[in-house]
Amino acid sequence: AKKYILVKKSEGFPKPTDFKLVEEQLPPLKENEYLTEAVFLSVDPYMRAYMRRLNVNTTMIGSQIAKIVESKSAKFPVGRYVVGQYGWRSHTVASENAPQELGLQTFLLPDLQGLPVSLGLGVLGMPGNTAYFGLLELCKPKAGETVVVSGAAGAVGSLVGQIAKIKGCTAIGIAGSDEKGKWLTQELGFDHFINYKTQNVEKELKKAAPKGVDCYFDNVGGEISTTVINQMNLFGRVAVCGAISAYNATGPIKVSTPNASIVFQQLKLEGFIVSTWNQRWMEGIHQNLQWIQQGKLKYRETVTEGFENIFKAFTEMLQGGNVGKAIVKV
Ligand code: NDP
Repeated sequence: AKKYILVKKSEGFPKPTDFKLVEEQLPPLKENEYLTEAVFLSVDPYMRAYMRRLNVNTTMIGSQIAKIVESKSAKFPVGRYVVGQYGWRSHTVASENAPQELGLQTFLLPDLQGLPVSLGLGVLGMPGNTAYFGLLELCKPKAGETVVVSGAAGAVGSLVGQIAKIKGCTAIGIAGSDEKGKWLTQELGFDHFINYKTQNVEKELKKAAPKGVDCYFDNVGGEISTTVINQMNLFGRVAVCGAISAYNATGPIKVSTPNASIVFQQLKLEGFIVSTWNQRWMEGIHQNLQWIQQGKLKYRETVTEGFENIFKAFTEMLQGGNVGKAIVKV
């Protein structure tokens, strides 16, 4: 078995030397334990944020789709796939009674009705539920309203805009390349796209949302978010999902002070963690699955081949190399 351990806390952008690939001998199974083999590994922005809290010489965190290859657990039988919080490991001995990692659950992959099992890490997993619950429960978009999403071409953002469309809203996506923009507007049905790297977000947003913004699904934080918040309407809602623009920051993270728009437009800003909806997890999965089957929700995966390339996949994702969900095929 192989695994990656964190050997040095990354300062700024992660370096390959912050990680080490090590071999490990797995112990024989005890009662209620099972052995899994990783099939797809997830690389997600939250990993960079959580690395700050991870002790050195521990296994890098992360979720994976794994196949159960040996079992002494009736709940986790051989041959089934599991969505496991096992970290960057090729094989794992897990106990059916293991505690949750980072609030996320380990569970048998639900029936995806013939769709690829890898979707359990994306549209039919954690990012899918982040988009579904975050947008609908926090922003509560109403038909006719304008919804803006940053990080729009990523795993979560690409779904947020489509769910906004399903709810009858105007969807505006902000992301970092024109190729991503084409995908959003021409294939996913977003109404407008803004390239934050080459365009003036403030000006373009005024054009795209002449009546102002009602809901903002914030994946990135920083300057982009201040610009969007300054164009929000009275009683606008902001779902604060992520702050990727600050995840690689060195030194103390600058917190921008609440601005006048929040006060005078009486905005509601709310941070959330998707595990808040652990009790309703399958509701999100089933709804997103149904929307896929109805042709209303499209997805894309950016797949890197090989367990040994997980660091590359992780850092490429942090730099915007992915369209849709970034995963590694073991
Ligand atoms: P993505 O698939 O969106 O990948 C990350 C993307 O972030 C990159 O593709 C890149 O695209 C963009 N990005 C990188 N650096 C910057 C920057 N400085 N400014 C703006 N954009 C940047 O990841 P996810 O969909 O998995 O996650 C999106 C966000 O949601 C993250 O902030 C993540 O932490 C958060 N999240 C929160 C959860 C929660 O429970 N609250 C659960 C899951 C995710 P580009 O080309 O546009 O730059």
